[in-house]
Amino acid sequence: MTFITRFAPSPTGPLHLGHAYSALLGHDMAQARGGKFLLRIDDLDQSRSRATWEEQIYEDLAWLGISWQTPVRKQSQCQADYDTALDVLWRKGLLYSCTCTRRDIKEAQSAPQEGQPQLGPDGLIYPGTCRPRRSPSGPRPQDVTLRLDVHKALTPLHAGGHFSPTGGEAPRAACFCETGPRANSPAGHYTFSMQDILKNIGDFVVARQNMGASYHLAVVVDDQQQGVTHVVRGADLLEATIIQCLIGWLLDGEIKTYWSQPTYHHHGLIRDETGKRLAKRDDARAIAKYREDGASPADIRALVGLD
Ligand code: GLU
Ligand code: ZN
Repeated sequence: MTFITRFAPSPTGPLHLGHAYSALLGHDMAQARGGKFLLRIDDLDQSRSRATWEEQIYEDLAWLGISWQTPVRKQSQCQADYDTALDVLWRKGLLYSCTCTRRDIKEAQSAPQEGQPQLGPDGLIYPGTCRPRRSPSGPRPQDVTLRLDVHKALTPLHAGGHFSPTGGEAPRAACFCETGPRANSPAGHYTFSMQDILKNIGDFVVARQNMGASYHLAVVVDDQQQGVTHVVRGADLLEATIIQCLIGWLLDGEIKTYWSQPTYHHHGLIRDETGKRLAKRDDARAIAKYREDGASPADIRALVGLD
């Protein structure tokens, strides 16, 4: 199987050292295995994406010595693929529309049980206000926020088969292959339980009112469409992978007859001197700034620990 990885930045700000690390690591891995490195532009959120940032991404990556296959996939041009996936989930009766604002969700959460987390990898954990008793019928509503009914998705009929009993009364568990430092089982897997999903993630968003698909749904569809075998990205997305696995399992065999789940490599994050992880607004760490200051691509590799 050819090793295919991708780097998928959002053109919403300058690439910083953390992005350079992700891109270089993925590119190095692809070269070492005679595989492919793809660049994808995650510009689903058109309200925040800018053409100038996209141009800068191409420039920075080329300067770093990275090459990629063209044409580049851009999420803003792939809505038809996301619609197909949303229709599959809708037909399975797993989606419902939600009209709650952030404030509604916060208010509904205002008396949380002790120890219950309120924030998960998809933001505020949804209290289920709009979840219907019966699956909605008719065509999928357009231009609304749609959530996935996670309880239903975890039943044996849907993704339940991917979870196996861990013994005794223990919750059913599933895993993905993880080659990074955060693997939680000796065999190089990251294991999670149904209980983790219900409690720490909840009914997550798959389509937004002004944005045909959510990041999680789009990423799964893109990776499937592009035949990505290895996802190399920062450890900040480790929990998001649980959501993305679940979506992948629900779509398995529906869009492509054969789909193999990618292996993940969530690498450590590049931090500043105070231990804070770098963000897009950290202009001081922008690759463009290092370039301006006369750094070489080799200097950047050394800075992120890739020699
Ligand atoms: N576009 C996402 C970001 O900039 C990354 C998506 C991914 O690697 O799955 O953080
Ligand atoms: Zn709602």
